Amino acid sequence: MNEMIQQDLTALLKRVTGFDAFREGQEEVVRSVINGHDTIAVLPTGAGKSLCYQLPVHAMGGTVLIVSPLLSLMEDQVAQLKMNGEKRVAALNSFLAPKERSAVLANLGKYRYLFTSPEMLVQPHISDRIKQLELAYIVADEAHCISQWGFDFRPDYLRMREWLGSLGERPPVLALTATASEKAIQDIADYLLMKQQKLFIHPPDRPNIAMELVRQESREEKTKWILNALTGWKGPGIIYVQSRKRAEELAELLRLRNIRVAAFHAGMEGEDRILVQQQFLTGELEWICATNAFGMGINKPDIRWIIHDQLPPSAAQYIQEIGRAGRDGGQSLATLLYTETDADKAAFIALDDLPEPETVRFIGKCISEGMELKEAGDRAGLSDTALRVVSYWLGRLGTDKAAIQMEELAAGKRKEIFSMVRFAEGGGCIRSRILALFGYAPATRPVHCCSDCGFVADQFLSARTTVDNASGLLGWKERIDGLLGVGE
Ligand code: ADP
Ligand code: MG
Repeated sequence: MNEMIQQDLTALLKRVTGFDAFREGQEEVVRSVINGHDTIAVLPTGAGKSLCYQLPVHAMGGTVLIVSPLLSLMEDQVAQLKMNGEKRVAALNSFLAPKERSAVLANLGKYRYLFTSPEMLVQPHISDRIKQLELAYIVADEAHCISQWGFDFRPDYLRMREWLGSLGERPPVLALTATASEKAIQDIADYLLMKQQKLFIHPPDRPNIAMELVRQESREEKTKWILNALTGWKGPGIIYVQSRKRAEELAELLRLRNIRVAAFHAGMEGEDRILVQQQFLTGELEWICATNAFGMGINKPDIRWIIHDQLPPSAAQYIQEIGRAGRDGGQSLATLLYTETDADKAAFIALDDLPEPETVRFIGKCISEGMELKEAGDRAGLSDTALRVVSYWLGRLGTDKAAIQMEELAAGKRKEIFSMVRFAEGGGCIRSRILALFGYAPATRPVHCCSDCGFVADQFLSARTTVDNASGLLGWKERIDGLLGVGE
């Protein structure tokens, strides 16, 4: 019986995607969804998780609802499906003009793949429409976001629980991620209201990514290091930075050295962000200087190098971000630049928008005295994001417990930062130490392992020649000569 299913699934895979075989981990996830099980799949970055949600619907019929955390990711996934010839695909998000949105809503039942965000999903007029669909299954892509963002940044992730509860008889739910601690898996199961879920977990290691740790004294030293590295070696690559200002500053310095680079951060207009992402995907841009708003789930196969200009606040975020390299299987590099002051900066950013327990108490008191939530938020000087978070917890826990919840969240974040500091300051194999934070050891030691075990960058990174550097400045004759191969 199993064998027959296996043959059928391989035939389905071939017919739908053209691929001859499943990659490790995919088939059992596809089968679990087809068999109607709630499923959590933890597969490394680049393993091919999209296929796990794209394939079952071809055996099951109906519509798949994919809840996705980022606009840019949705756009990327829709574009890839369309490129593969899929017409029945749409994204319901804030990027749509009102007219387009009405058109999508009027045709909901016709789509095979429908992408949306948690925020959009829980809006009553959208959620009511979606409830009427024949949903084959519901997918939470990048499901670690439930745990990473739901509690302190995007409470609508947590509201999905109520939305799913309101479905009554509901279709199976599939959660996909590359990084999930035990707690994250528990959160995923809880907030996606899973029942007797099947769990498929693979270690997050990416043996084709060499890991380098460089300790430095100051930000200036980091800047010098980056300028030196990028004028010596080619990308494509991403530099992760902590602030919009730093993203702009580094991009400018690199542009002055004729490197095709752009900044990417949440302060940019949505359209500019999509444009930069597109230019990076097509190779027009070689480097992106980005805050963590960039890159989640993006499938650019040939990224060779990820540089962190700043200690990420958690091991999961670090693994997610470096995992954008080497999706084509090619040898790649992840460099973490670390200075002692990084921990304070990481804590400042991670805790910046998290409301203080006193603020929660203050807002709770204002509301109990009949004040409007918005006004209470204004008086406390809270951002809209923070106010949404406070309002979610006050509504569920009441004032005292909500205040304690904020304390616990802050403590959890500090603990994660502390474990990253220990990682950055400690000695020994870097790959082993980061994997240990997830409870794994590397299965094998790759040739290009890490800066502790050793790796040889010039065996896999391409050197930048003076011609590359000046390519933006070449005249038409040189360009034509270049194209014709004259003088090579
Ligand atoms: P992730 O696990 O990070 O979500 P993706 O779903 O974006 O990874 O897939 C990464 C790449 O792997 C894509 O280019 C996809 O086409 C390719 N891929 C996925 N499954 C297979 C397969 N069975 N055979 C060959 N290539 C595959
Ligand atoms: Mg993905």
